Amino acid sequence: MLSRIDLRGRSLGTAELRRTLPRGAADVDSVVDTVRPVVEAIREHGAPAALEYGETFDSVRPASVRVPAEVIARAVDELDPDIRAALSEAIRRARIVHSAQRRGDTVTEVAPGGFVTERWVPVERVGLYVPGGKAVYPSSVIMNVVPAQVAGVGSLAVASPPQADFGGWPHPTILAACSLLGVEEVWAVGGAQAVALLAYGGQDTDDSVLEPVDMVTGPGNVYVTAAKRLCRSVVGIDSEAGPTEIAILADDTADPVHVAYDLISQAEHDPNAASVLVTHSETLADAVDREIEARYEVTLNSDRVREALEGPQSGIVLVDDIEAGLRVVDAYAAEHLEVQTRDSAADAARVRNAGAIFVGAYSPVPLGDYAAGSNHVLPTSGTARHSSGLSVQTFLRGIHVVDYDQAALKEIAPTVVALAAAERLPAHGEAVRARFEDLGTGEDGR
Ligand code: NAD
Repeated sequence: MLSRIDLRGRSLGTAELRRTLPRGAADVDSVVDTVRPVVEAIREHGAPAALEYGETFDSVRPASVRVPAEVIARAVDELDPDIRAALSEAIRRARIVHSAQRRGDTVTEVAPGGFVTERWVPVERVGLYVPGGKAVYPSSVIMNVVPAQVAGVGSLAVASPPQADFGGWPHPTILAACSLLGVEEVWAVGGAQAVALLAYGGQDTDDSVLEPVDMVTGPGNVYVTAAKRLCRSVVGIDSEAGPTEIAILADDTADPVHVAYDLISQAEHDPNAASVLVTHSETLADAVDREIEARYEVTLNSDRVREALEGPQSGIVLVDDIEAGLRVVDAYAAEHLEVQTRDSAADAARVRNAGAIFVGAYSPVPLGDYAAGSNHVLPTSGTARHSSGLSVQTFLRGIHVVDYDQAALKEIAPTVVALAAAERLPAHGEAVRARFEDLGTGEDGR
């Protein structure tokens, strides 16, 4: 049984709601001390240290950290044709959505002869982490690589944990996904050591060198997140993504079987995953509980699913009505939010806080996990209140280019001089005044 939180008849403010709602405590702080020596060792010793940690944490030591080209080629040759077709379709849809996100430079003439251009420039080299501990995520290859490529990132390195079952190389489906996307640089390294190696670079055992990246993106477990936190002064990171979350806002029109499956689908990722149903229908809540109970025994990853669904981070929240439900889901700010109500589209349109919103009975989260075209690397742990998921924008920097001619500068000079005086930084004003013999010497430049 999922635990229940009964908010009926209670009118809680946002802060109180946040304290009351179930939420996982992916305690990144508690593993920072475990991860710090790993990051330090990689910084000092590079790839050989990564191989050591692979042996410790992944129980396997590949022949090199760089995955040889022939291993990648074999993975794509031996890929099941149905999986190849599915990956290709997922790539096609992700490209459609992400290509539409591309934005052009904006040129603004602020005053006659005074231009400010915002130029979007891709990050030069990016390291993409693809998790591979409890499950393998070829879909995460797509979700990382597609927006980076669309943004125009010139150099991409993928890192994924070495797998004991595959000779120490990352899972072949991950390698095949890289190949289908045209990514040739893949490294067999996982966890904190992967993030550190991407950030600091290092000599591999077989003479290949991992050049440090400018940015590390991608989801991962708490060790990956802690390493991102420790390396963020050296490289850019996308976010500190925690275990996956789903919230479902549903009423009595929702099918309890669908709701149960959708809650289970995210619980399957991780025992720390969070699945939360928000409803004003006790009948639906009871039916969903029964459907989940019936599926525990038959679902493949049943231990993980039960631990996630019965953990303190999951539960059923009972509310008075849809209005109250909307306040709850906004306070919760789920990574994934499904809206399965009588008027799903209208209710979904009112949601302010969510990583991604899935509208109605036919847009389940697994569609977005794989093949909707949307991105599945999304803000967790309530960070959807202020952050977005991975997108083309993640890989772009906006550079302001300021281009004023002589007349335009002269026209604004008194303003600059006056503000410089107000801040008691007169050299700022003098730098402008020095360009114009006929500019006054007063504090306002007149
Ligand atoms: P992972 O690749 O993130 O982690 C595996 C690595 O963890 C191993 O290679 C190992 O080096 C390291 N590790 C394991 N135990 C350790 C220990 N005791 N000390 C130090 N390091 C250790 O794979 P995972 O564990 O399966 O986690 C993947 C996570 O990513 C899940 O939480 C999943 O929900 C999440 N995920 C999120 C998204 C998203 O878009 N938000 C997508 C896919 C996966």
